[in-house]
Amino acid sequence: LPLGNYFPAFWCIFMHHFPHVCKGKHQIKAQRWEEVSIMDEKNIPIRTYQVCNVLEPNQNNWLRTDWIPRSGAQRVYVEVKFTLRDCNSLPGVTGTCKETFNLYYHESNEVRESYIKESSFIKVDTVAADESFTQVDVGDRIMKLNTEVRDVKVTTRKGFYLAFQDVGACIALVSVRVFYKTCPLTIRNLATFPDTVTGADTSSLVEVRGSCVNQSEEREEPKMYCGADGEWLVPIGGCFCSPGYEEKGGACKACSAGFYKAKSSDAGCFKCPPHSHSVRDGATVCDCHSGFFRADSDPPSMACTQPPSAPQQLISVVNETSVVLEWAPPRRLGGRSDTSYNYPRMGSGSISSSQLCLPCGSDVLFSPGQTGLKTTRVVVSELRAHTHYTFIVHARNGVSQASGAGAAQSVSVSVTTNQAVSSILAIDVTRHSLSLSWQQPDRPNGVILEYEVKFYEKDQKERSYRIMRTFSRSVDVTGLNPLTVYVFHVRARTAAGYGEFSAPFEFSTNSDPFPLIGEGVNSAFLLLSVSGVGILLLISAAVFIISRRRSKYSKTKQDSEEEKHLNPGVKIYVDPFTYEDPDQAIHEFAKEIDVSSIHIEKVIGMVGEFGEVCSGRLRVQGKREIYVAIKSLKAGYSDKQRRDFLSEASIMGQFDHPNIIRLEGVVTRCKPLMIITEYMENGSLDAFLRKHDGQFTVIQLVGMLRGIASGMKYLSDMSYVHRDLAARNILVNSNLVCKVSDFGLSRVLEDDPEAAYTTRVRRKIPIRWTAPEAITYRKFTTASDVWSYGIVMWEVVSYGERPYWDMNNQDVIKAIEEGYRLPAPMDCPVVLHQLMLDCWERERAERPTFSQILNMLDKLIRNPGTLRRTGGDRPAGTMLESGMGSEVCVSVLPEVCVPEWSVCEWLQSIGLERYRDTLAAAGYTSLDSLLALTHQ
Ligand code: AMP
Repeated sequence: LPLGNYFPAFWCIFMHHFPHVCKGKHQIKAQRWEEVSIMDEKNIPIRTYQVCNVLEPNQNNWLRTDWIPRSGAQRVYVEVKFTLRDCNSLPGVTGTCKETFNLYYHESNEVRESYIKESSFIKVDTVAADESFTQVDVGDRIMKLNTEVRDVKVTTRKGFYLAFQDVGACIALVSVRVFYKTCPLTIRNLATFPDTVTGADTSSLVEVRGSCVNQSEEREEPKMYCGADGEWLVPIGGCFCSPGYEEKGGACKACSAGFYKAKSSDAGCFKCPPHSHSVRDGATVCDCHSGFFRADSDPPSMACTQPPSAPQQLISVVNETSVVLEWAPPRRLGGRSDTSYNYPRMGSGSISSSQLCLPCGSDVLFSPGQTGLKTTRVVVSELRAHTHYTFIVHARNGVSQASGAGAAQSVSVSVTTNQAVSSILAIDVTRHSLSLSWQQPDRPNGVILEYEVKFYEKDQKERSYRIMRTFSRSVDVTGLNPLTVYVFHVRARTAAGYGEFSAPFEFSTNSDPFPLIGEGVNSAFLLLSVSGVGILLLISAAVFIISRRRSKYSKTKQDSEEEKHLNPGVKIYVDPFTYEDPDQAIHEFAKEIDVSSIHIEKVIGMVGEFGEVCSGRLRVQGKREIYVAIKSLKAGYSDKQRRDFLSEASIMGQFDHPNIIRLEGVVTRCKPLMIITEYMENGSLDAFLRKHDGQFTVIQLVGMLRGIASGMKYLSDMSYVHRDLAARNILVNSNLVCKVSDFGLSRVLEDDPEAAYTTRVRRKIPIRWTAPEAITYRKFTTASDVWSYGIVMWEVVSYGERPYWDMNNQDVIKAIEEGYRLPAPMDCPVVLHQLMLDCWERERAERPTFSQILNMLDKLIRNPGTLRRTGGDRPAGTMLESGMGSEVCVSVLPEVCVPEWSVCEWLQSIGLERYRDTLAAAGYTSLDSLLALTHQ
């Protein structure tokens, strides 16, 4: 306590019989106050100042302290401990005895005032005892100690003196403590408020401005008030932790690695958004993973994104000198929604010369525009005729510039505009001549240097024709035979070369020797015949065939079993475990088969401890005998094993799709329990591919993937999440049709040899095939099935290679977490690897749906050229390079393939291979021959 002291240590009494006490600095002038040693109630000796002149009237005995420095205090507190004798207990003191004393103070700058007048002291208070005592009986120790506190404002001098005036009481001062109050140093709202001395008056508040703690900045001026009793009041304003720091226990602590805080006003540190990281503490923004970017306008809370992939399926339709370009949005939008399209480069060049492309002139018109297009269609007009143009459509988004991405996001198409002399007129006709004229072609690609006229007798066809050249837009053709029909074509020549010949125009000579001029009528009988009729007929015939083929395809597609199920919401998978009685579920979804109709042939596989898979035959009454697989559970199983075993059938029995293994029925009424499914001659896909390493064409592999995707789309439409999609769980039949198998919840996790325990979850998970969110949070969804599908794609294209080779599971999890993804297998088409990478997007919402995957694969099958580009070291697509017609079917299917394999493969790719024999028998053995297919 700054000023508080027990007076025996500081005080000195002026007493002749204690002269030694009066030495030293802290002297007190006293009259009849005596320094006396007494024992306190604990029998410890204490020094007191006593006065007790109760018998004498008019007492005025003063006891004064040394100078006490104020030390900045404005109001000081004086705590006095004393004992006081009850006057009533003293005989014969009536009138003279008092039971109070007075407390005085005197402010002064003088440290050692030897004499201070009585009148210089200001009275603080008259102090009475709460408890007085009646007799001093040291033996009984009944002395009663009073504690009284008085406060006084001391503001004018550097210090003060205190004095005690006795007016005739019997008092012993035991201690005097002098102190002042402060509001202690504190931190409020991230601002530090210093130790503050309270105000002079009991009601005064001292306004204090706080200062922001380390690593923080002012939000609003931090202020608080220090009350007279030393309490802080009314905090106002405060500070925010600086970017990169967050509040913890009243201080600002740096965000740890993996977290960031961008703005001081943010509530705290946030986890780095997807595709970004922070390696050091105190990050204000997270750095993007390599390959990911952030646009200047992207907030730090936004995931890092990528530029879009190239626009897809750019098609062009040329109409004379205008071109309509249409394309599909990029497959991968990079996690952004601000894709737009530009033509960063576009050029024109002449067809015949090898000159370099030049940028298009400003006279070319783009509708709706050339840059920043949000639509996927543009009409380019006012092009030059008969000119070669390359249009490069560039997909951009907010991070295209930051990523420096270029060609990867663009797609180009080259077109040639038409040079057309659109019509030819015969202005004069005679027996031997024809005068013709025509209009200049629209927007020629340069100055027209001359026209070339080709003509021949219609009957002669083009076997013999004549050519005439002219600088003007008319020509007189002479030396013709009378009454003969001639066919004319005109083409123009510019510095760039000749354009296209016009369509044929037919004119006939007549029998008149002279032209009939002057009659006011152009008597030439103008035979402006649209001789393209023949061609038109041909075209319409072709259109008819093609459209019929198309409609046939789409119709068959609609008719296919697959399409029947495309209406989601109609049928939803029912979890058999929701049935209290598992037998009820099994009989609802599976047919009970009489065991006598099953003929088991051989064991083809084992399942767990009690199960085996056999092949055999099933003959149901009234139906032809079929090959089946029989999965059986031998005696000795537990209830749980029975339930789990049958759950697979309950699940399978709900599905009906060409790419899902079909359940024929179950045997539950006798032992062993059996599940009968269709027989898949080629067993599981992984083993099948390993056995036939490198033997399939890319189209065949894509065909298999298409089948699996189709089955998975069906399952996802039924809201069934497979959880263990892997090549080992796909079965292949003799037609190379892949079917998804292995259903049942516990089977998935318990029976799969690939399923392993992870450190985070208690159930087993096939780590290599499973999406990160499913491993970490058990978040199994269709999107996690899509991840697994990507792994299956990789397995298929690599012919059954083990995903992540011999890396251990923990390393796989870590690698995936750090952004590693399986590279493209050898000879893998770039588009397929890209599709795999899309399936392995960390954000599950970014992964494609099975429906999108299916569409994509269908497109690839329809345009095999897109599969040609590979990233591998072998020459790209050797088999494809040689052209579709030169490939042979794989050896496993020799009997199903006609020598012109492409019909077979085409049927396979669209899932209609069941028609191959019918087509082959009808003589449709090549794609060319299919063109001649008629309704009949
Ligand atoms: P699973 O119960 O699917 O694990 O069956 C074990 C093994 O039996 C599989 O890997 C296949 O080789 C074989 N298998 C299962 N079902 C069939 C089936 N329907 N057709 C042919 N082989 C099958």
